[in-house]
Amino acid sequence: MPQSSLRIDAKLPRVGTTIFTVMSRLAADCGAINLSQGFPDFQPDASLFAATLQAMHDGRNQYPPMAGVAELRAAISDKVAALYGVRYDSESEVTVTAGATQALFTAIAAFVRAGDEVVVFEPVYDSYMPAIETVGGKAVCATLRFPDYRPDWTQVRALLGPRTRMIIINSPHNPTGSVWSAEDLDCLAELTRATDIVVLADEVYEHIVFDGASHYSVCSRPELAARSLVVSSFGKTYHITGWKIGYVVGSAGLMNEFRKVHQFNVFTVNTPCQVGIAEYMRDASRHLGLAHFYEQKRNFFRTQLQASRFDLLPCAGTYFQLASYRRISDLPDIEFARWLTREAGVAAIPVSAFHHAGRDDGVVRFCFAKQDTTLAAAAERLRGL
Ligand code: PMP
Ligand code: GLN
Repeated sequence: MPQSSLRIDAKLPRVGTTIFTVMSRLAADCGAINLSQGFPDFQPDASLFAATLQAMHDGRNQYPPMAGVAELRAAISDKVAALYGVRYDSESEVTVTAGATQALFTAIAAFVRAGDEVVVFEPVYDSYMPAIETVGGKAVCATLRFPDYRPDWTQVRALLGPRTRMIIINSPHNPTGSVWSAEDLDCLAELTRATDIVVLADEVYEHIVFDGASHYSVCSRPELAARSLVVSSFGKTYHITGWKIGYVVGSAGLMNEFRKVHQFNVFTVNTPCQVGIAEYMRDASRHLGLAHFYEQKRNFFRTQLQASRFDLLPCAGTYFQLASYRRISDLPDIEFARWLTREAGVAAIPVSAFHHAGRDDGVVRFCFAKQDTTLAAAAERLRGL
């Protein structure tokens, strides 16, 4: 390709390649055990493949309706009603998306105008701030402070103002594994009452909450549900992160605006996978059993690391375990993660990557959505440090 003299005015001048891609690539280059990017290293249930293949043979290979195939939207509506006691209309209040990332981006593009402020909580999932910036909005950061990462509602109150268009929340939370309480939702409801703030709730780990605790979805609070778009991901729930399918639910008014953008963003999502997932969802034990499945993995991984010099932070949900490495090294976390990958042969994510100004508490994130043999092999290496 010839060199271009084109002057490119970058919309995202500070954005590079995502930390997940960087660390997974480094893990592959070094032959390290990859506990960095969040994806399972085991196969999904084969019956999901069978249902999807059947859909292809049944001729479900052309464009589906813009909002998603009817049977999947009905299954989502039923699931949400069963879990959170609210019935979203599958025609006008449920949309299937190409993963949660697309749902989040589309929601932000549909509601945030140039100059609008969007409150996010740091450490913050990496896609939110670039999406806000792309549409000319301004991210305003509330702090989830190490080591317990609880929201500080006094601080949030102070951040709200006439320009606040949206608040993005994420519980269970990536990367910290913290989960919001019923009181947190009370505070959110109280702060947004009598405003036009839209809540964008990233609940992709809704089924991965441990120790008998409940997931408090904004869907379960009528007052909050009325101002919220709630996003989930089949990638997390059915061990298919590479299928890139998720969904969003929200009141008809909000969904109408969402779909105006969605139809020109992806238009729609591949048909046979939607049909396959709809069939697979009929058995609710598949999502209801997920918490137990990952709780065992969390416990196994934590036990394996007990004799290491990592200090493990609490993990109430998600499939991520945070660990302080201060007893092992004084390196900044990005350098430590690289060193760990190269020298110890285990890849992790530095938590400073979730802070816009790079705040570094000496903590890395390990993904435990892995076979026990993978976790045991990684832990053996980590215990040697
Ligand atoms: N939000 C959070 C908090 C996530 O952790 C992820 C992916 N791990 C996503 C959104 C994106 O989900 P998807 O892969 O369905 O786009
Ligand atoms: N959400 C996944 C994680 O937190 C990664 C997704 C991605 O690579 N963008 O690890």
